[in-house]
Amino acid sequence: MTDDCGNATQGHNMSEAVTCQAHERLWRGRAVDRNLADSWLEKLNALRSFDLVSICEGHCDARAASVRRRPAIILRPKTALLKLLTERWFALRDAWAAAFDRLWPEGDTIVELEVQHGIVKDEGPAAAGVDIILRITCRRPRSLHDQGTYFNGWFAKAIFALDMLDHLGYKQTSFTEGEYGSFTGSFLRHPEHS
Ligand SMILES: [Zn+2]
Repeated sequence: MTDDCGNATQGHNMSEAVTCQAHERLWRGRAVDRNLADSWLEKLNALRSFDLVSICEGHCDARAASVRRRPAIILRPKTALLKLLTERWFALRDAWAAAFDRLWPEGDTIVELEVQHGIVKDEGPAAAGVDIILRITCRRPRSLHDQGTYFNGWFAKAIFALDMLDHLGYKQTSFTEGEYGSFTGSFLRHPEHS
């Protein structure tokens, strides 16, 4: 899968030849937006409770109202946290909301944690599935006059906050390790960042 910026996402076939567009560069064999720092990508790929799904620096050639104008980081909880949050959502959601308030106090960021429960009936028997997506979006769109300083600061703050959130997720899952039966839910498909 790739988003419309060409960012490599989960399921990307690493054996395929990767071609970069003008706004991209190669990082660990993947095409990523050119202005994303190695240190940001390294930190986001080293989180213990989340997988990086996609990351976009925001593009000023996009339509003025397009979300593609705005930097965004999209993650999915790893299996242990996904299982915990879907099974104990109503007990844990207030703590997560409080963490969002604490970690993003300035109102310069939209933070969305979306839990999807569903049943999909396709060719085989109907199956229940779950999925969770965490979307971090900068409120400010890129413009042609930007120097990039604001957005570098935004990414640095967002990645610091995500590191703290990762600690919360890791702590919660390690406290409840072994408390639940095996996880059998499948992943629902979800719309990609576009
Ligand atoms: Zn992009």
